[in-house]
Parts: sequence; C-alpha cells; structure tokens
Amino acid sequence: MSLLQIEEPIRGEQTTESEKKFCIGIDFGTTNCVCSVKIDGNVTMITDEFGEVIIPSVVLFKDSDVFVGNQIKKKIKNGLENRIFSIKRDFVENPDAKKIYGNHKQKLSPIEVSSLIFKYLKNCCESFLGKEISKCVVTVPAYFDERSRFAIKQSASLVGFEVLRLVNEPTSAAYAYGLERKTRGNYFVYDLGGGTFDVSILKLTDGVFKVLSTGGDPFLGGDDLDKLFACKIAEDFLNLRFEDLSKNNKVILVRKAKLLKEKLQKETVLNEFLEIDKKQINLEITEKVLNMAISEILDKTISISTAVLEESDLKENEIDGFILVGGSTRLKILISKIQERFQLKIFSDIDPDLVVSKGAALHADGLVNGTENLLLDVTPLSLGIETAGGLMEKIIHRNTTIPIVKEQEFTTYEEGQTAIKIHILQGEREMVKYNRTLGEFVLDGIEPKPPGIPRINVRFMVDANGLLSVSATDKSSAIQKELEVKTTFNLEIDQMRIMIEESIKNSSLDMQERLLEESKVDAIRFINELQSMDSDLKEICSAEELNKINSYIKLLSKEIQKDNREGILDFLKKLDLATQSFSEKRVKQKIKSALIGKNYDKL
Ligand code: ADP
Ligand code: MG
Repeated sequence: MSLLQIEEPIRGEQTTESEKKFCIGIDFGTTNCVCSVKIDGNVTMITDEFGEVIIPSVVLFKDSDVFVGNQIKKKIKNGLENRIFSIKRDFVENPDAKKIYGNHKQKLSPIEVSSLIFKYLKNCCESFLGKEISKCVVTVPAYFDERSRFAIKQSASLVGFEVLRLVNEPTSAAYAYGLERKTRGNYFVYDLGGGTFDVSILKLTDGVFKVLSTGGDPFLGGDDLDKLFACKIAEDFLNLRFEDLSKNNKVILVRKAKLLKEKLQKETVLNEFLEIDKKQINLEITEKVLNMAISEILDKTISISTAVLEESDLKENEIDGFILVGGSTRLKILISKIQERFQLKIFSDIDPDLVVSKGAALHADGLVNGTENLLLDVTPLSLGIETAGGLMEKIIHRNTTIPIVKEQEFTTYEEGQTAIKIHILQGEREMVKYNRTLGEFVLDGIEPKPPGIPRINVRFMVDANGLLSVSATDKSSAIQKELEVKTTFNLEIDQMRIMIEESIKNSSLDMQERLLEESKVDAIRFINELQSMDSDLKEICSAEELNKINSYIKLLSKEIQKDNREGILDFLKKLDLATQSFSEKRVKQKIKSALIGKNYDKL
C-alpha cells in the first residue's frame, strides 16, 4: 500500500519578493535625514541619486525649481545664501505658521517646507527600490509634544507617505541595538547632532522603553563646534577676529572648519589650504588645537548628562550602557570625556549617523511583516481635564505606556446643570493655570438634575503615535462629543522640561493650593445645597437651630473669602453638625410622605 502524501501546512504567507511589504524607517533629522529598509533580514541603507546615505535636511528654491539635500551641494553654485536649514526646529514653535522661507515668493509653513524634503526622500526610496512605496515609520525627538508630532505626520502625509508610527529617536537607537530583546535595563542615550543635543535615560521593562528623564540643549551641536574652531583658525592663521570677516568669508571658513574637524578624527595633523579673498593660506593644524577650541562645549554636554542622570533617580551603576547617537559623537575627544566621567559600557558599533534610522527600519518591518517585537513609547507629560475650583484632574499620568485608553467618571457641580466644558490639559501641576491647554469642547443636552447625579464618562485615548483624542458621554442620555487634539499653544523645546522641573519644585505648594481649592468647592457646594432647601429648613428647624445654621453659613463664607483652609474645614464641620438633626428629620419626613397610602407588602 502506498502512503498518501500530506503537504506541510502553510507556514504564514509565502510571499514572493515582489509581494513583500516594504516600510521605510526615516530619521528626519534637524541637519540630516537617513532612510533605510529591512530587506531579507538585513537593514539596507537607502542612497540618493548621488549614492549618498546621508541627505542634508536642506531646501533651496531656484527659479521655479526646488532642490533638496545633496542636489544643492552637487548642482548649485550661486544663491546658496537662500538655503533653508534646520526646518525641524520650527515644529516646536508653530508648525502651521506661514512665513517667507529663503527666496520663495509665497509664505510657507514648516509643515509645507518639510513636505518638500519628505517628497524628495520618497523619490529616493522609490528609485532605489524600483517600486512605489508609501508606508513609513518616522522618528521624532522624545520631547516633541502632541502638536509637533501631529505636524510631522501631516507633513509626510502631504506627499503620500502613510506614517504607520512615530517613534522617539532615543528609543529607536536602543532598538537598533536590539536592546528590547533583553528583559530589563537602563540606558543612557547621548545624541549630539549638527544643531541639537539631546540626552535621555530609557528604562526598559519587558519590551517597553520608558523615558525616565530627558535633557539637552536645542541650540548646541556640531555647527557650534565648527564655529568655535573657525574662530580659532581665524585668530591663529589670519590674525583676525572671526566677527571681522566678511559674510562670505565666514561661510568659507566655517565650511573648512567642519571639514577639518571631521578629518582630524582620522589623522592627528593636517596640512590644508584655505582660500580666502583669493589668497591661499597654509593651515597646519593638529587635533590638539581642535580639541582646545571645542572642549568647553563638550564639557557642557557632559554636565547636562550628569544632571539628567540625577533627575532619573538612578545611580550610575544601575545604568547598563551609554548609546552614542549623532554624527558629532565620532569626536574622539568626546568619547574620552564620556569615558572619564561615566564608567559605562559604550554602545558605538552601529554608525552613529545611521543608528536612529536603522531602529526605525526594524520597527517598520515589525509593523508590516510582524517579525519584530513592537516597542512602545510613553506619554511625556500628564494629560487631564479641568474640574471645579480650577483644578487639573490627571487622567493619563506622565510616562504611561502608549497606546492607552483611560476612562473616568465626572459629574455636575450645580443644580440643574445641563452642560459641561471639557477643558483638556497637559502638564504636571495641580492648578489649571499652571498647565497647558490642549483644547476644549462643551458637552450639552445633559438632563437637568441635582449636582452629583449625572454620570459623565470622559475617555482619553492616546494612540501609538502619541496623538490624543478625548470624548465625553452623558451616560443617561448617551449624548456624546469627541475632540481630536491638535494643540493650539506654543511649547518651546525646553518648556516641557521646565514644566516637569517646576512641578517637582512646587509640588508641596501646589498640593496646599489644591487642598484649599477642594475645601472651597466642598464648602460652596454645601452652602448652595442648604440654600436650595431653604423652605425645608424653615419648616423643620427650630428658630435656635436656624440661627446657628445661618451664622455658620456666614462665617464659612467669610473663611472662603479669606482663602483660609483651616477655617473652612472648621466651619464645614460645625455646619455639618448643626444640620445633622435637620437632615435626619428631613429624610424621615420624605420617607413618610413617600409611604403614605402605600401597601407595605408591596414594597
Ligand atoms: P542631526 O541629527 O541633527 O540631523 P547628525 O546626527 O547627522 O545631525 O550630525 C551631523 C553633525 O555630525 C555635523 O555637525 C557633522 O559635522 C558631525 N559629524 C559628522 N561626521 C563627523 C566626524 N567624523 N567627526 C566629527 N563630527 C562629525
Ligand atoms: Mg539625529
């Protein structure tokens, strides 16, 4: 008897090369952009039309053409002063605000200018892969707020990118090192790019990275090192102060300084020519001279890192590694300074220019092909709503892993209230006035009832990109309203850090203020309640009781005006005692009147 053959069950989808889904990882940097994609188990770096992986985040309008990235360096000779640099910085202030960029006739918003870069990146990816692509994962700084995140996503979407996720840059770097596969660990991520310095401490628990603390300087990077080195060269070789050079010569000198800085990481002495005002100047320059010129700035980054470590409440020996990110971490002097200050294992095997993009490509592949563990991010600041007394009630706390949905029930404050305002806030402080408004809407049509009776369910949902939507539902009528939050207020890069620091600094004062406001809300509610029962009071209480109650109401009102919490609590207690027998009698009376004429058996 011949055996019947049984085929092996299909193991997942047997995809052919052409059916494989590609999702690009994009590091959209302030200075440079890098795109990569995971193909056949490896991350491939995508190159532009010139074969370059690193694509400068620069745009230039010339006549009716747009030039982006390396096209400018390779194709354009004149009009370079109109280049548009560091557009990503403008996302922090107001990504929608239009202004004149470079020599462009019409005003543009940062979202629009960036979309030109995204368009160029998309073209590069498509030519490189020989097929149309749309899906991508984009990295953003850990301190980017909801609004900046939303704007980056919008900018990429404008040119047909489908942004599957936004991932924090430090998290992406840790991901490139495969650290998410460990069960736990704490990591320093030190990112010194061209124009910005960011440092974060990540805590990894079961595949989830939380940002324990962040710090940095939004205006400190390789560009500043170039400028300092250029000043040193001007003094040593031109006998001039840098400030006294013409605009054009400044540009030439800074460019040269940048080139020498990078070359000096491979050779200790260089002999180069500098052409300035048609004169050839011989520059014999050593690594030592460079290091002297830039040392101070590098020391500053080390002290910022120390402060961030302190803020995280971790000890140095609890940190499992120090990850280097950004082109400027190639500086040998910087690495020795870091090793001098921190006795930590340094992760620098992956090219610091490419590490963020690589992490994004791995994540992107995980999303479309389900091959990787998917890392999660956290909310950078707490989110909540305003409650009576000008207080902020936090619904989602800072550092909560996203995506997240949280619900909480609220109720009305006044008799017969038919509408409530949902004022959405972000921040760490107890009082609304110290936090940031993200948006507001009104839920109306609530059935008029006594305060405390309606049940309003407020639902906060933060998606995997860190975008928030809020809905409020009146449970009895099922009336619902929803708002997707695009923030409307400016948040400076450092403001977020300041918000967190201030909340820590003011926490005990804030708590006192919160307790005072809560006592005032209770007291006013009690007084209003008693006043609404005026006729019952007159009917049930003796003249003596009534006098006592009224005088306590007066005294309590005075304490409210004086903002005296102790006085408020004292008279609240007295008023409570003075009205106790009234309450009991009133309840009995109500029950009695409800029962009159009823058959007890049927109750
Ligand atoms: P960003 O993240 O801000 O876009 P990058 O991470 O691409 O920036 O870093 C760009 C910076 O790295 C530039 O200032 C560049 O001069 C610097 N850089 C690149 N290579 C080297 C090197 N070999 N030595 C020193 N600095 C370098
Ligand atoms: Mg970067």
